Amino acid sequence: MSLLKRNEFLFNKVSSLKGVGAKLTKYLKNKKIEKINDLLWDLPYSYTDRSQLVSISDLEIGKIQTIKVKINKLYFPRIRNLPNRIQCEDSTGKIDLIYFNSREGYLRKIFKINEWNIVSGKVSLFKNKAQITNPDYVTELGNIDYVATKIPKYSLSDGLTEKSYRKIIDSVLSNLKEIDEWYDKETIDKLKLKSWKNSLIYLHKKFESKNIDSDYYRRLAFDEIMSFLISKSKNRKQIKIKKTEGKVFNSILFNKIVNKLKFKLTKDQLKAVNDINSDLKSKDRMFRLLQGDVGSGKTIVSIVAIANVIQSGYQCALMAPTEILAKQHFDLILKTLLDLNIKVEFLVGKTPYKEKNIILEKLKQGKIDLLIGTHALFQKKINFSKLGLIVVDEQHKFGVKQRMDLANKGGIDCDVLLMSATPIPRTIMLTLYGDMDISRIIEKPKNRKIILTLSKPENKISELIPLINKHIENNDQVFWVCPLIDKSAFLDYSSAKIRYENIKKIFPNNIGLIYGSLKKEEKDKIIDKFKKKEIKILVSTTVIEVGIDFPDANLIIIENSDKFGLAQLHQLRGRVGRGAKQGICILLYKGNLSNNAIQRIKILKSSNDGFHISEKDMRLRGFGDLIGFQQSGIKFFKVADPVKHQDLFRYAETYIKKIEIDNKLNKFDFLLKLFDKAEIISKKKF
Ligand code: ADP
Ligand code: MG
Repeated sequence: MSLLKRNEFLFNKVSSLKGVGAKLTKYLKNKKIEKINDLLWDLPYSYTDRSQLVSISDLEIGKIQTIKVKINKLYFPRIRNLPNRIQCEDSTGKIDLIYFNSREGYLRKIFKINEWNIVSGKVSLFKNKAQITNPDYVTELGNIDYVATKIPKYSLSDGLTEKSYRKIIDSVLSNLKEIDEWYDKETIDKLKLKSWKNSLIYLHKKFESKNIDSDYYRRLAFDEIMSFLISKSKNRKQIKIKKTEGKVFNSILFNKIVNKLKFKLTKDQLKAVNDINSDLKSKDRMFRLLQGDVGSGKTIVSIVAIANVIQSGYQCALMAPTEILAKQHFDLILKTLLDLNIKVEFLVGKTPYKEKNIILEKLKQGKIDLLIGTHALFQKKINFSKLGLIVVDEQHKFGVKQRMDLANKGGIDCDVLLMSATPIPRTIMLTLYGDMDISRIIEKPKNRKIILTLSKPENKISELIPLINKHIENNDQVFWVCPLIDKSAFLDYSSAKIRYENIKKIFPNNIGLIYGSLKKEEKDKIIDKFKKKEIKILVSTTVIEVGIDFPDANLIIIENSDKFGLAQLHQLRGRVGRGAKQGICILLYKGNLSNNAIQRIKILKSSNDGFHISEKDMRLRGFGDLIGFQQSGIKFFKVADPVKHQDLFRYAETYIKKIEIDNKLNKFDFLLKLFDKAEIISKKKF
């Protein structure tokens, strides 16, 4: 049987697994697990030790423990809301098993008087008696090994229990077939690679998933790195193709735009403009990443590129990850390109149907030069008449697949410019973006002051009121960021809605609330008011994180700041101090800070340089949350770590070149599929 056939079930939906019905499927989906292979990469973070059989008299309250007990009596009270109760004992004492919402018939089937059972669950005290409420496991003595053992602990969201999830994982692992090894012997020996199947079983069962240096972990990491680099190499081949013609333009437009600016472009900005211009003029299709810290002035560079491409007779598209940001670009570009006779339109998912149709029609006829919007720009029915440049702002918010969709949309004469404000260390950048050309803006505009960064425990929040007052009196504005919209039953994190209500009592006429799921019109209205300075305080979730530019916002307060990654805090902080005035950032935290959190706040206080911060962040936390991907839901890697597995990356780079020459890349098709990369590269060429 071919490789693919043997383990083909991995690419089926989870609902095809026995025992996984509609409900479980939904719960798994909340965990972003849809296909069976998604389960493989969801590794346990620890284990629950149920291995010791404890006598009732030795039980510790509050701990999860396992007991061997004889069933004495079953109580089924006829009074509503009273739980059912199973009284049990061993030679040392008695204990009750308490069941809420369990049917009598069901309990009678499991519990037989005078029979012995293994029971495992969290022990609590009620009226001075030990009890276990809704035990996690109850089983007959013959099954003791299944329960009295160390059981992997997965991060489980609503509706999933250790027991149900364990069943699912077990059934997948036991169905895995060993593969015909896709690496050569030399590589296996050199990297000490374990077998594919054993590595998966080991990481799920042996509680070693945290040890990313183990040979088992490194095996899977290497698999992922290979799939990543192979798909990148295939990507580049698709993207880096010859255009039918280079773009033709002169510097008249550039001069007009630059002369209208209130500032001079920095050296790095000019260099980026030059890089881009020569790409546009060349016959090689551009695939360039413009990288620069928040506030380094990337937007104006992209506007110049757009103007040049339009002058050359092509259309342009500018895509931003949020409507707010797209709208801001739209407003800015209208202003900057005023009197240059350039036709600009704005399109987002919620643009009214009629309006949208008019835009689509005009677009097809070439009557629009520049279309600005969100990912709505790349729906199937949108057709440009002659698209020459796509600019993607905050590109890390988009997945690789979206990037490909977009490049496909453009056709061979469409250049691609990606912008990113994630200042990542140079080595990592080459690892992640080695398939692109890169321009970096390192030097920031000269007028920038260092943002003053302070930290405060949340219980001193009232001390902030005079500060806010002062800002408002100065006609300045304030951001107030909370990690959650609503209050959570599980997390002790601040909610934007509740904070908004609280502050509103103090500043009733001056405050707005904004979050991602708010209706577009509502969002626009609030942003507009904030822009016009009709409101001075904006309470929000991290939706304000990306790219928004309000020159008079000089104070940002971030709640639960210790829960954010350094890079993300730096980005949030970059929302203030964009004009000439002093920016202030206040990091609030709850309770006591961990050592690590104290260090991170220190780093943030001591530096305003995103590249420096990300370097430090990486050393403290590894690659994990470096780029704030957790929040955006996009992760570069499921198991590999570009910081800790540098050696594997290096090896893979040379290795791939070798097999490329031997033309043996095809044997990795299964591997690509395993890491969801196959879909990306199977897209047809232009
Ligand atoms: P980002 O790189 O984060 O997208 P923006 O392009 O939004 O940054 O620029 C941030 C602010 O800096 C804007 O208000 C912009 O007008 C201003 N700016 C851009 N370039 C310069 C410069 N060379 N000198 C002074 N201010 C600049
Ligand atoms: Mg920006």
